[in-house]
Amino acid sequence: MRLTVLGCNGPFPEAGGALSGYLLKAGNTRILLECGSGVISFLTALTEPEKIDGIILSHLHFDHMSDILPLQYRFAMTGKRVKVYAPSAPENVRALLDCPAFEWCDIAAGGKIGEIAFTTLPVRHPVPSYAVRFEHDGKVFCYTGDTNTCESLAGFAAKSDLMLADACFTDEMWHEGLPHLSARKAAEIALRADVKRLILTHFRPDISREKLLEQAQSVFENTCLAQVGLKAEV
Ligand SMILES: [Zn+2]
Ligand SMILES: [Zn+2]
Repeated sequence: MRLTVLGCNGPFPEAGGALSGYLLKAGNTRILLECGSGVISFLTALTEPEKIDGIILSHLHFDHMSDILPLQYRFAMTGKRVKVYAPSAPENVRALLDCPAFEWCDIAAGGKIGEIAFTTLPVRHPVPSYAVRFEHDGKVFCYTGDTNTCESLAGFAAKSDLMLADACFTDEMWHEGLPHLSARKAAEIALRADVKRLILTHFRPDISREKLLEQAQSVFENTCLAQVGLKAEV
């Protein structure tokens, strides 16, 4: 599999940046994982959005799904229809997916998109949110989605070749009541899960990424920062 970062900010973008969005490709299969604002612009620079075989939204916060809304206008013109795997709630936001371009599927059940199989795990966030574990050709890529600490996450991510993790907060900011992990907590999960490599993501523009990297690497050395255009082979 090959992961390409299309956007790594949250919950609002930096200048010239984009909110959560990742392209996962294996053979002829392309999955769009998350679709925050700015993502379709970066996706279109790489490939025609009509070539996407499925879309996965870990949860229905706007920073992970807002570009789905104008994407439906493009698909209405081109006649594309695609499955969108997302939670069923909040229902008023899920209802935004009710249009001819999209076929909503419950993310909780997992599934298979082209050649890539995936399973999901409910995580800890203010709305229903899921971590996603992708498998193809004996390789595993695990994405935490938005979450704070979650007891079952390390087991779910076990032995992943690559883990992409919410690492929003520094040590100084983080506490259990927040909606996101810290970089250090993400690294602790990576260590416990015995993953090969960790990529940090979901960067708030006002929080130092260098500090996040330093704090994560003090726990799990093979860690790097997501950035738009970053490619990782899994
Ligand atoms: Zn988010
Ligand atoms: Zn969220």
